[in-house]
Amino acid sequence: MTSTNPALARDIDGKAISAKVLDEVREEVQVLARQQIYPALAVLLVGEDPASEVYVRNKLLRAKEVGIRSLEYRLPEIASQNDVLQLIAQLNADVTVNGILVQLPLPAHIDEAAVIHAIDPIKDVDGFHRENVGGLVQGIEVLTPCTPSGCMRLLQETCGDLSGLHAVVIGRSNIVGKPMATLLLQADCSVSVVHSRSVDAPTLCRMADIVVVAVGRPQMIDASWLKPGAVVIDVGINRITTASGTRLVGDVDYASARTVASAITPVPGGVGPMTIAYLLKNTLVASQLQRGVRTRHSMPL
Ligand code: NAD
Repeated sequence: MTSTNPALARDIDGKAISAKVLDEVREEVQVLARQQIYPALAVLLVGEDPASEVYVRNKLLRAKEVGIRSLEYRLPEIASQNDVLQLIAQLNADVTVNGILVQLPLPAHIDEAAVIHAIDPIKDVDGFHRENVGGLVQGIEVLTPCTPSGCMRLLQETCGDLSGLHAVVIGRSNIVGKPMATLLLQADCSVSVVHSRSVDAPTLCRMADIVVVAVGRPQMIDASWLKPGAVVIDVGINRITTASGTRLVGDVDYASARTVASAITPVPGGVGPMTIAYLLKNTLVASQLQRGVRTRHSMPL
């Protein structure tokens, strides 16, 4: 859906752009197949969280569509941390497995950080391992968190060159806010990060050409936070209950924000589909790095 009213922001179509990314991945997977290289992604689910079940199912389905082999591992809710670590050690040692994804959250008795850091960094397709986080900050090509990578692609497709633009990232989580800010810096933006302790966040935000929101609070950002013409990326996914039932909304008040912004991601259909596309892209890149088909390069400082 694109706005036909020039006074309203146009939608940034995450479904269409993610389809483009998946096509690129599929093409490169076919090139690798001609060299007898078959990328494989192992997905580990511990317990029976219904939302995690849906995420895992979607990831496996998309992997199949682009020709990436996927392996599903399930452990019961009562599995010990040692059980999980043993399985990861086995997957690390298996040369036919290129990517390892542990679906989060893990049951409360398992230390998530210990599990993430047990994954071989070159198979860490979520990009959460501290070695990959460090590499990202230093501008070395590493496996980079999927959601911020997907947001960067949306921005590049929308704005072209981002150099010199002022970007405000709202939220400073390890999985979205911090890597997002780093990627924007690498793309030569001037970057501000706004968080729960920021003073007068709306004023800072109104200075931004680009606003990326990852807060986890339904519809918190409205038109009053935005400079006219700003490009808005809404990472939030929140289920709210209204008189007509439940529905998904972002962290941005879409109806209000689109009266001021020039382009905006809808929820759903914006950032969501990009995350899976970049998981598969990371699996491809991981297999290329492991097989020496791709070498790491450093980004310009
Ligand atoms: P998080 O809870 O880890 O972090 C939220 C951040 O928001 C914190 O850094 C906090 O400082 C900041 N914050 C809280 N209140 C604030 C306020 N009043 N003003 C400014 N900043 C404030 O959340 P997260 O994991 O980064 O996720 C954020 C949202 O993105 C959630 O809705 C989540 O569901 C969604 N998400 C979506 C995808 C996707 O694929 N689309 C992926 C990851 C997360």
